[in-house]
Amino acid sequence: MMSRPADDDDSYHAKASKIVDSGGVKRHIFKPSGTEIWTVVGAEGEYLVSDDPPLCTCPAFYFSLTRGKKRNCHHLIAVELAKQEDHVATTVGRDEEIRIFLKLLCEEASEDDSSQLNE
Ligand SMILES: [Zn+2]
Repeated sequence: MMSRPADDDDSYHAKASKIVDSGGVKRHIFKPSGTEIWTVVGAEGEYLVSDDPPLCTCPAFYFSLTRGKKRNCHHLIAVELAKQEDHVATTVGRDEEIRIFLKLLCEEASEDDSSQLNE
C-alpha cells in the first residue's frame, strides 16, 4: 500500500472494508460480449465503479474531481480491497440486459444523492 497523508483515509478504509465484508462489491458480466460492469453498494445506493481509469458515480467522487482533490472515494478503495481479498460477488447476465441494468442503477442512485454533499 502507498502511504497517504490525508486524514480521510482511515475512515475511507473502515467504510470500504465494511462494504467488502458485506459482499457489496459486485462484478456483473454480460454475455456473449463479456462486458464487465463493477458496482459498489454504499450506504445510500449502488454506484457504478471503474478502477482503471478511476471512476465512481457517487457524489464524493464527483466533488473530488471538481474540487481538484485526489480522485478517490471509499467505493474505489472497496473495489481494490475486494480484489485483494478475492471477495467479489459475481453475477452473469445477457448483453440485452445491460441497458435496463444501467437504467435501474441510475434511478436508484439519484434518489438520495444529497446525503454525501457535506463531506
Ligand atoms: Zn464512490
